[in-house]
Amino acid sequence: MTNGASGVLLVVETRDGAIRETSRELFGIGRTLASETGGSLAAVVLGSGLDAAASEAAALGADRVLVADAPELAAFTVDAYAKAVDAAIDATSPAIVLLAGTTGGRDLAPFLATRRDVAYLVDCVRLARQDGSWVGTRPVYQGKVLTEVRAAGDGLTFATIHAGAFVAPEPDAGRTAETTALELNFAPGEIRVTVKDLVQAEAGPSNLEQAEVVVVGGRGLGEAANFKLAEDLASVLGGAVGATRAVTDLGWRPHYEQVGQTGKTIAPKLYIGLGVSGAVQHTVGIRGSETIVAINRDPDAPIFKMADFGIVGDVQEIVPKLTEKLRAVRG
Ligand code: FAD
Repeated sequence: MTNGASGVLLVVETRDGAIRETSRELFGIGRTLASETGGSLAAVVLGSGLDAAASEAAALGADRVLVADAPELAAFTVDAYAKAVDAAIDATSPAIVLLAGTTGGRDLAPFLATRRDVAYLVDCVRLARQDGSWVGTRPVYQGKVLTEVRAAGDGLTFATIHAGAFVAPEPDAGRTAETTALELNFAPGEIRVTVKDLVQAEAGPSNLEQAEVVVVGGRGLGEAANFKLAEDLASVLGGAVGATRAVTDLGWRPHYEQVGQTGKTIAPKLYIGLGVSGAVQHTVGIRGSETIVAINRDPDAPIFKMADFGIVGDVQEIVPKLTEKLRAVRG
């Protein structure tokens, strides 16, 4: 490294004393990048009551674990988390700091990068060192296009990692790491936000993972109201409704209905895709389906390559007729 820094620091978020899945996913890419810099992999684990999480960070591959364990870190606030991560950066002098692309990570990374006046690469699905600087690849236009962003300069860089872009390594319970507790003393008024209560979002009524029939609606349904077509078809087959990410990003359906790489993995007896193009990030979540039926007006849509039965046509015309026929047959 030209600026002398090497190694990777992972910012590891916890919930109820356990490492969050999005933070586990940082460890594989973290290890690869640490090797590229010729340095080690450090992890700062943040939260309250972290004995198990610190051991898990070692098991997932950290060479060095810095434990930021304080009641002030039990819930996320930028002020408290920034102080802890700053202390970890000072202790490890990494070349790059990786954060999960969670609400907290996306809040914290630009805050820290701006304070240090260094580069921040957003929402990376790939990350590599090229010609002396960091290059991140990020999806734009709902994942239809990938764009490369190069960090200016060769100094410390922050990057957030897209959820689901990397697989968490298998933990090795026998692995140990040099573990240090970070001394953090918070002055009164230093944390400007008080978290009074955390309210768990509803998991939703969807039983996608158990359903024997899943009807997934894609952007080809045209608008949120047209999901009635998917609901009616699912209802007559006793199935559940799912959605593609294009649809959940548009806010047509809740995230808990999303199927695919960053949603749920399903394995129903029957999958029916309505206006679903069949992007790999979607199909990775439906591969276990016994029978795949696709309705799409584009005969070249990739979904037809994996479909057992395909209907080329307009969902608005075909689905009401199909639902009617099935209703008549099933009574
Ligand atoms: P589109 O790709 O826009 O396709 C719409 C389809 O509808 C087209 O094929 C079109 O021909 C057809 N159509 C249009 N009108 C009609 C009509 N009237 N009748 C019939 N057919 C019609 N996607 C997911 O689904 N799940 C994920 O978990 C996921 N994770 C991702 C993770 C990453 C890191 C990235 C980069 C992307 C991810 N994506 C995911 C997004 C994915 O790449 C696609 O953008 C998305 O699946 C496309 O959704 P879609 O098929 O609904 O929309």
